[in-house]
This record gives sequence, C-alpha cells and structure tokens, in this order.
Amino acid sequence: MPMEYDNPYAPPMADLDSSASLTEVTDGWRDGTLLVVPKGAELPDRCLKCNAPAHGYRFKRTLYWLQPAWFILFLMSPPIYIVVYLIVRKKGKATAGLCLTHRKRRVLAILIGWLTSLAGIPTAFLAMFVPDHYRPIPLIAGVVLMVAGLSVGMIGSLVLIPKRIDKRFIWLNKVSPDLLESYPPWRA
Ligand SMILES: [Zn+2]
Repeated sequence: MPMEYDNPYAPPMADLDSSASLTEVTDGWRDGTLLVVPKGAELPDRCLKCNAPAHGYRFKRTLYWLQPAWFILFLMSPPIYIVVYLIVRKKGKATAGLCLTHRKRRVLAILIGWLTSLAGIPTAFLAMFVPDHYRPIPLIAGVVLMVAGLSVGMIGSLVLIPKRIDKRFIWLNKVSPDLLESYPPWRA
C-alpha cells in the first residue's frame, strides 16, 4: 500500500481523480443521436461504437466537412467542386477510444474491401478472352467489384464520422447510444 494513504496531509488524490474523469466526460454534449465535442477533443477511454473499455487505444483523425448543399456544384462540375471543397471545407481534430472488437471489425472491412477491389482487376481482364459480344459482362463485373470493394473498405474504416463542423465544435454521427447517454444535453 502506498504511504500516501496513511498520510493525512497528502493531497486528496481520490478527489483529484474523480474531478479529472468528470471533466473528461462533460467535454461533450449529446444533440439527438449526435455527439457534440469541441475541436481537438480527447474522448474518454471507452469505445466510440459500443461503450466497452478501449484499454488505452486511441483513434485520432483530422475530420473534414462541407455543407451538403455544395453537392449541387459537384453535379454541375466535379473539378470545381473539388477546388471549392478544399477551400470551403471545415476541419477539426478529434481522438476517441475503440475496443478490440471494433478495431478488428474495421481491419476486416478494409481487408475485404481491398480483396474485393483487387478481384475486379482479373475479372475485367477476362474480357480479353471471351467473344466480342460477351465482352461487356466481365468489364462491368470488374468495375462493379472495384467500386463495391472501395466503398466497403472506405465505409467500414470510418470511426469518427462528422455530421457537421463549425468554428468550434464537431457533431459526430454513429456514436454508441450508451456512450451518448453519459453526456449532458446540448444547449445550442
Ligand atoms: Zn466497441
């Protein structure tokens, strides 16, 4: 047993600990199904997806967000949209915990995504070995596999998903309802 426990003049360590965890938990608010955190927030050592202990694993990302209305511009001219996106997008950093199960699930989604995408390449090449009028079939199947694989990998790898970012705060989507419950309601 550490000596501090017997020393009545030692600083109140238990109190310090509980106030520290309290600040950590209140550094965010729930806004419906979204979790609002200040930019640069360090979320507690709980899994963002299921609220299980994260055992110290930290997942850090810089998040970007652009007002969805700008998507109209994408339909008119994708290159201009990309330029506008790079200039107008809002960004913010956030760090969250992730449990072993969700870490594994993320790696698996990335792996399946890559394998599916790569399988699209030989599938498309089959077009060289089939009669002319069957050629579109392997070509289309190959492209579908590549796009599907990329989508599965990209969506499955997402952890911190911004629904909105403003000057100070980030609204995170797809957060565990149990974790959300531990935050006070958002007062706009
Ligand atoms: Zn989890």
